Amino acid sequence: MKSLKYYLFFLFLIFAQQGFAQKDSIAVFPDSTKVMNDLFFLSSDSLQGRKTNTLGNEIAREYIIKRLQKVGVSAYVQDYLQPFTFGKDSIPAVNILGFIEGFTGKNFIVISAHYDHVGMEDSTKIFNGADDNASGVASLLALAEYFRENQPENNLLFAFFDAEEMGLQGAKHFMQSVVVDTSKIKMNVNLDMVSRGDKNELYAVGTYFTPYLKPLLNEASKDKSIELLFGRDNPKKKPYWVNASDHAPFHQAEIPFIYFGVDDHPDYHKITDTADKINPNFYLEAIRLIKEAIEIFDANLGEIVYGK
Ligand SMILES: [Zn+2]
Repeated sequence: MKSLKYYLFFLFLIFAQQGFAQKDSIAVFPDSTKVMNDLFFLSSDSLQGRKTNTLGNEIAREYIIKRLQKVGVSAYVQDYLQPFTFGKDSIPAVNILGFIEGFTGKNFIVISAHYDHVGMEDSTKIFNGADDNASGVASLLALAEYFRENQPENNLLFAFFDAEEMGLQGAKHFMQSVVVDTSKIKMNVNLDMVSRGDKNELYAVGTYFTPYLKPLLNEASKDKSIELLFGRDNPKKKPYWVNASDHAPFHQAEIPFIYFGVDDHPDYHKITDTADKINPNFYLEAIRLIKEAIEIFDANLGEIVYGK
């Protein structure tokens, strides 16, 4: 059942890509075959839900590092690895940090996505976590490849955080570790669940705290076929997503952030969050929008100040 769907899906992608290519003769971004391959692999049953401190999590990590090496993204720390432990049981976890040096080489934008998920239940049910958050990881790999070929003005740190599902542990450790002087981190762009097109809507959360970012985001979304929505970041209103993923420790350090994600869907944190539910047209358009937003943030980074 699954394999037939899988192949039909690829057939669709080949046609979809040809369609884009006819419209536009310049290089197509993102490479839909690579993006979907990454997403399918990371959310496959063989990775058993990528829970922190499991073999499936380790396989995901090795895969991400191989892809970064292939793209030519440098290791920001030795072998890309930032190991740490957390909690009273000292659970081991590992962040992955890749680096692209900017022209000015001084300040940083941290682009993040967590690669862990919640694992398995009863040793039979696999939480594949296709949207949450194989989608963010595959997006980061595509963005890393793009910016490797199109050098940004500022340094880009690609952070694949571990143990998000256990309380944002990877992002918290990253900020405490001061592996980057936090005064040089001028922005965080966090991706968590960016592929489900059920409503054709993507949220950009965080402009409540840094309103300057709103027109920049509107600029990035103006020619896109998906709807970019704001909100979910007012402390007096629910739902409030500011503490919901790895952007939270950046927010607490008063670093401007934008969190990109879709609304909760019926498969959120269920064993049904599988790759076949993803709408590739929506997902690829979301990646394009996020890429353009990052380019605009990069060009205006000096003006982006928390609270303004
Ligand atoms: Zn998530």
